[in-house]
Amino acid sequence: MSTENTAGHGLQEADGAEYVPAREDDIAERLAALSDEEARQRAEALRAGLEDYELDEEDAALLDRWEEGGPEAEDEPVPPVLAVVGRPNVGKSTLVNRIIGRREAVVEDVPGVTRDRVSYEAEWNGTVFTVVDTGGWEHDAKGIHQRVAEQAELAVDVADAVLFVVDATVGATSTDEAVVRLLRRKGKPVILVANKVDDITQEADAAALWGLGLGQPYPVSAVHGRGTGDLLDAAVELLPEESAHGGLIPRGGPRRVALLGRPNVGKSSLLNKLAGSDRVVVDDTAGTTRDPVDELIELGGRLWRFVDTAGIRRRQHMAHGADYYASLRTQSALDKAEVAVVLLEASEVLSEQDVRILQTVLDSGRALVLAFNKWDLMDEDRRYYLEREIDKDLAHVAWAPRVNLSAKTGWHKDRLVPALDTALESWDRRIPTGKLNAFLGELVAAHPHPVRGGKQPRILFATQPSTRPPRIVLFTTGFLEPGYRRFIIRRLRETFGFEGTPIELGMRVREKRSRKR
Ligand code: GDP
Ligand code: GDP
Repeated sequence: MSTENTAGHGLQEADGAEYVPAREDDIAERLAALSDEEARQRAEALRAGLEDYELDEEDAALLDRWEEGGPEAEDEPVPPVLAVVGRPNVGKSTLVNRIIGRREAVVEDVPGVTRDRVSYEAEWNGTVFTVVDTGGWEHDAKGIHQRVAEQAELAVDVADAVLFVVDATVGATSTDEAVVRLLRRKGKPVILVANKVDDITQEADAAALWGLGLGQPYPVSAVHGRGTGDLLDAAVELLPEESAHGGLIPRGGPRRVALLGRPNVGKSSLLNKLAGSDRVVVDDTAGTTRDPVDELIELGGRLWRFVDTAGIRRRQHMAHGADYYASLRTQSALDKAEVAVVLLEASEVLSEQDVRILQTVLDSGRALVLAFNKWDLMDEDRRYYLEREIDKDLAHVAWAPRVNLSAKTGWHKDRLVPALDTALESWDRRIPTGKLNAFLGELVAAHPHPVRGGKQPRILFATQPSTRPPRIVLFTTGFLEPGYRRFIIRRLRETFGFEGTPIELGMRVREKRSRKR
């Protein structure tokens, strides 16, 4: 079994009590006294001891990577995006669930998070892509035409191909026809899905949809899975290898920054302040989209790529779908970014939307900088309460560098670059295996895992197979309690820094090999 439990950058991991260390320790001093060579030798010994345990192929690959001297993460292309659009109740959400399988539903099983997600990673026959879901959003009878069209438009704008879902049992309605006109105008490849064709007798309903002029309708039953294989074959065929919206961004280029935050928090003001008037190099990586997507801005003597600034500059003046658009933009910008600057309004109480945006960043595993904007509006009173709020509501991102600034006046805007550098350095950071194991050895010796039911899980060996963000894997003899894992992460931060990056801590519980002769 290659299950690896990961803890680390989740928001409130309510499970289990916190581990409270029983005594002071001198781990930092002991580590400092240990030479690299000694640490390496100790790790070698631990590594050798692992051979007594049942390891699978994945374990072996992971350990090999350590032996090769560490990972060199390749930059991955942004996967192509498939948008699912259509009227309410035609079965979009059902189809999306069918496409992504049950996996996501389990992974995202956090109340309040699932609901707000608009895009999911999916895979079909080896092609990885992102599905953008426009289902499940509130709608009322009034102005439904308008809303369906608006939502479809937002999704289609970031998509490389579109699944247009029609209820075959109802047939084409005037709303469907309005969406068809929109799709024509956008010129993206479209597949027409004739949904709710639950059996062969309903195929004729599907055929009637040829009339929409979008070519062959694909008869599908999203509920039963009938026809979805053929549909996905066709969809994957239409998708480019990488998203035209994101594209492949070469490693070693300017670092990629996403400016995020709720509407009116000051994103476009900050962008303008940072860009000045003539420093902006508009960069049309996307090629196929008409809007320039990213901007290259020189800060601190270096170029930075601010991703998806088109989404910031193109102010959305729509009555509906503003939240939806914001979520969509946040997710699609994060896909391309290495570090997120989340703007918060210092002069106002943290909102639910702020919390949601932060959670999306945490889920993405990107580096994080918090920018408290509108500092010019602060007074002493507010400042007192802000500190309280930060302690209480932002404790889970206490590791992110904070910058107080004013996008309006430009005050402190030069503080952003050092914060970005810190966060990215941590994000790229790798702890040598010797040091890591030495640290854990000292930690466990000073603060052992609680004994439960007469048993005490042991940490056999640790390695950091990847960075961006740092991922540490522990081989153990038993399940480490969440509270203890959080304790490990806390101490990792105290010992090694990691300011500005989430840390993933994975755990592989392995059993002793049965001796065969
Ligand atoms: P959305 O509003 O477009 O996201 O639609 P939903 O996915 O929420 O589905 C609306 C209703 O249609 C639900 O009651 C589904 O169970 C039902 N539905 C979806 N797909 C099918 C299908 O293939 N066949 C049948 N018979 N019902 C379906
Ligand atoms: P966006 O929606 O996040 O792009 O926000 P904008 O940049 O459009 O800003 C929204 C409003 O807040 C505008 O009226 C800005 O002038 C104002 N604003 C932005 N930054 C600051 C700031 O640092 N101080 C003050 N007082 N107002 C600001």
